[in-house]
Amino acid sequence: MGAAMETKSRASSTAPDPTQSKPLLGRVAVVTGGSRGIGASIARELAASGATVVVNYVRGAEAAAGVVAQIEAAGGRASTEAGDVSKADDVEAMFGRVKENHGRLDVLVNNAGILRDKTFKKMSITDWHEVIETNLTSVMYCCHSAVPMLLENGWGRIINISSFVGQLGNFGQTNYSAAKAGILGFTKSLAIELARFNITVNAVCPGFVETEMWKSVPPNVQEKILERIPMHRVAKPEEIARGVRFFAVEGDYMTGQSLNINGGIYMGW
Ligand code: NDP
Repeated sequence: MGAAMETKSRASSTAPDPTQSKPLLGRVAVVTGGSRGIGASIARELAASGATVVVNYVRGAEAAAGVVAQIEAAGGRASTEAGDVSKADDVEAMFGRVKENHGRLDVLVNNAGILRDKTFKKMSITDWHEVIETNLTSVMYCCHSAVPMLLENGWGRIINISSFVGQLGNFGQTNYSAAKAGILGFTKSLAIELARFNITVNAVCPGFVETEMWKSVPPNVQEKILERIPMHRVAKPEEIARGVRFFAVEGDYMTGQSLNINGGIYMGW
């Protein structure tokens, strides 16, 4: 039996049983931007729950291979897939390969993202487009390719990584906050459309998280940010990954929601 058939025969359209140690066994998950930071943690978390994880990246081939090696060393299954999620053709080709190699898709985590922070006065048209295309349009492209595969299973989970900045706004981030707020509107509308097919669509809104993105913030700005966070610390990537696992494994009756994992920096709803 080929790998694709083997995976297909082990999972059904019924929801995973969260009491099992590997509730996602037999399911396939794609994590965009899985080579570093939050995405790498999400990939490890879903693999630890039994999923076969496809770790997407655009530049970081070595880092992505490192994440796969960590997952395999822990007894899990994973592979890498290169693809620029801001390019429709790349995305279509990547999901085509997922279908060919695994025969199915069950969980899509839209995590890839970039920053091009500038005050609006200094922001170029290119800064705007790069962020909107990589952080928002990519979510549409990935869902466009993934939804037909999720429909085939009669079960699916889409989890979009937004940000508290999409809820609150932030200085120097008009492009980023527009993309992240856009994700929240997209999430709710797609959730309404797909609910009857047993596919949920949810978002996770992290606060500041200790990744390369956070390290790129100047130390004096970091200090000011820490003062603003009621918990006075940034999140560990694993704390965000556990929220993603929750939607994938336990959130059966939750759709169109956003889960705020932010140390209290934004408490609105
Ligand atoms: P990192 O900068 O650490 O990692 C970004 C990831 O996205 C990398 O894997 C990178 O791949 C990938 N990526 C970037 N552009 C593309 C592209 N065009 N196609 C495919 N993959 C791409 O980011 P974080 O882990 O910090 O952030 C992950 C997500 O969480 C983002 O959506 C971010 O906006 C969000 N977030 C982060 C917060 C934080 O404080 N860190 C706070 C709130 C939300 P490669 O290695 O190949 O470059």
